[in-house]
Amino acid sequence: MTGKPIPVANPDTAVFWDACNEKRFLIQSCKSCGENQFYPRAICKNCQSNDLEWQEVSGRGTVKTFTVVRHAPSPAFKADLPYVLALINLDEGVSTMMNVIECDVEDVHIGMDIELTFELRGEQYIPQAKPISKG
Ligand SMILES: [Zn+2]
Repeated sequence: MTGKPIPVANPDTAVFWDACNEKRFLIQSCKSCGENQFYPRAICKNCQSNDLEWQEVSGRGTVKTFTVVRHAPSPAFKADLPYVLALINLDEGVSTMMNVIECDVEDVHIGMDIELTFELRGEQYIPQAKPISKG
């Protein structure tokens, strides 16, 4: 038990969180207008169609911007300090907030290439970003 918050799935996000537990990251693609979207929603944010399908992402992206967290928002995060909270652009054209882990905070930079990884909290895998492994 980490004490860190664990997401609670709702009808719009249950498919996403279940896929995370298989270490797959899904976004929604609109069959009416072709737009991709994340986070999961009941309808397309572009054209309001409900004709959405799930699509697994490549797992690659870049750091759009980030901050180094040096004061824990709650005691559960104290052991991680300092850590990076970043806005990640995935290659499929959607963005989301994640921690950049498995590297020194001083190595994180805007434009840095990342790949997705998953961190277990309780019984839920949480998507996170890490530097692309070499070789
Ligand atoms: Zn649409």
